[in-house]
Amino acid sequence: MSRTPQDASREEQIKELEEVPEAIRVQIISGEDCDQLATACGEFGRAHTNPIPVNGAWGEFRYLNRLRCSCGAGLIFHRLGSLPVDGIFGNIDVFETVCLQGKHWDILCFHIYHPRRTSILPAGYSFSDFHPVFSKTTWAYGTNRRVSTFPWGLSPLIEMHIGGTLGPKFSRKYEGFVRDRARFRAPGSHIDRVNQVASSLRGYVTEPGTELNHASEIKQNFVSGKDSAKLTSQKQALVRAVIHGAILAISFFNPFGILIKLSILIVLLLLFGMVASSERFKGKL
Ligand SMILES: [Zn+2]
Repeated sequence: MSRTPQDASREEQIKELEEVPEAIRVQIISGEDCDQLATACGEFGRAHTNPIPVNGAWGEFRYLNRLRCSCGAGLIFHRLGSLPVDGIFGNIDVFETVCLQGKHWDILCFHIYHPRRTSILPAGYSFSDFHPVFSKTTWAYGTNRRVSTFPWGLSPLIEMHIGGTLGPKFSRKYEGFVRDRARFRAPGSHIDRVNQVASSLRGYVTEPGTELNHASEIKQNFVSGKDSAKLTSQKQALVRAVIHGAILAISFFNPFGILIKLSILIVLLLLFGMVASSERFKGKL
C-alpha cells in the first residue's frame, strides 16, 4: 500500500454529495473518516472484510477512475453486486475490473458510507496524477450495474451515465479500447474467482432497474443536477420530431404545398440551365 499524492479536499468531497438523497447522505457524512475500516481484516480492497472506503456511489466511480494498473492504464469496470458483511454497516459493493490493456483483471470491494475517499491503494495500483477538474468528474469506462458480457457491452450504460454530447464520445473511445477482443482474455483463475464471489452476492442481477442498495441514489442523480440537461435535450429532440412529423404530414396532405415545391424546383432548374448555358457561352468566347 502506498500513499496517494492528493485528491479533492474533504470539504469538496462532502460537497460532491449534495445531490445524494438526504437519508443516504446523512449515513455517508456521519460515517468513519478513514483510510481503512477500523474493523479491517484481510487484504485491502480485495477481502470483503477490508473494503475500500469511499463517499457514496459516485465516490466509487471517482476512486476507480484514478486507479492505474502496473501497465499505467486506467480501468474498465462493472459492479458484480453487493453483500452484507458482519460488523460492517450496510452492504459492500463488489466490482470486477480490467485494465484498458486487457492484462490486469481484478475484483475490488467498496464501502460507500464514508465522508471522503481513502488515500490508500490496493496492492498493484497507483493513482493517476490528480487533475483539478477531471479527477473530480464521474466520467468513466464503467458502470455500477452488472454487465454479463463484461468487458463488452458497456456502451449504452456509459452513454446514459455521462449523457450529453460527451456520452457518445466516451463510448466510442471505450469501443476502440475493447475492439481487439483477443486482448481481453480473462485468466482462468480470475473467472473462478468471479464465479465464487458471484455465488455469495446479493443484488447479483442482470436486469437494470432491479439493483439493491444505493441504486436509488444513482437513479436520483440521473434525474437531478447535471442529468437534467440531458433530459431537457431529450425533450427538445421530441418536440423537434413532433414538429418535423407535422410538417411532413401537412406537406403530404396539402396539394398546394406540393405545387409550391414543384414550382420552386422548376424555377431552380431553369436558373441552373441559364447559368450552365451562360458558362458554356463564356467558354466559347
Ligand atoms: Zn494493466
